[in-house]
Amino acid sequence: MSESKINEAAEIINNSENIVVFSGAGISTESGIPDFRSEGGIWSKYDLSYHGNYYVFLENPKPFWTMHNELTDQLENAEPNEAHKSIAELEKMGKVKAVITQNVDMLHQRAGSGKYKNIPIYELHGSYKKLECIKCGKEYELDEVDTKNVEYPVCDKCSGFIKPKVILFGESLPLGVLNAALNAVRKANCLIMVGSSLLVSPANSVPLIAKESGSKIIFINNESTIMDDLADIVLQGKAGEIFTELMKKIK
Ligand code: NAD
Ligand code: ZN
Repeated sequence: MSESKINEAAEIINNSENIVVFSGAGISTESGIPDFRSEGGIWSKYDLSYHGNYYVFLENPKPFWTMHNELTDQLENAEPNEAHKSIAELEKMGKVKAVITQNVDMLHQRAGSGKYKNIPIYELHGSYKKLECIKCGKEYELDEVDTKNVEYPVCDKCSGFIKPKVILFGESLPLGVLNAALNAVRKANCLIMVGSSLLVSPANSVPLIAKESGSKIIFINNESTIMDDLADIVLQGKAGEIFTELMKKIK
């Protein structure tokens, strides 16, 4: 990673008082949670178009829950890494004003995001800890429901299927959350994108909106993305390592 690019990115961050962070699965791989591309990870074991498909779930929730229970164990054992922690630190410094994430792992919150200045965390694809009955809408916390010693969990009120409030394939995003997130991007003067292939729509409209509203744009990703041309600076490498270098230069 070239020192001069790190310096340029640090200068943008030092001059920004309204930063929005936009993260994807790549920010959490250093915490041991595989992204869709990691070989040997949980995603290579399951067929997402089947186990993670909403219409399959409606017919039979068992394949989904088999996969999700395994994922949940991984998420519960993961710890936030330097990238998550630096973003929380930047909130503490009054710089980061919102976090938008495609992840369901809650590692931003566990690193402290949202605690220091009460900034919003927009979870575009939901969170693994919140569950709901798809028939009557009753909400549950993951800890309140036995998801493992049953074929699949059902609602104690109406016997409907219980599903985590994560967006499955075939479901659409909650528009309210997406709109609120895009509004935060419109008000920001800097967007930091971390660990996303930017292939998933409509979440990938975030960098486009940032560009449209004249924001500075920093990309931090292990590989190039289809939207690198939008960025003022592209820092290619591991997010945890890059944030560690960057934070040494942030005042
Ligand atoms: P993606 O898997 O499509 O892309 C991840 C990107 O991050 C890749 O370009 C990869 O090169 C990069 N990357 C991997 N490790 C990195 C690191 N250490 N530092 C920097 N970059 C790194 O992820 P996506 O764009 O978020 O889309 C995947 C979808 O899957 C999302 O909808 C998300 O909800 C879901 N997902 C979530 C989790 C999670 O909650 N942690 C994990 C896997 C998938
Ligand atoms: Zn119910």
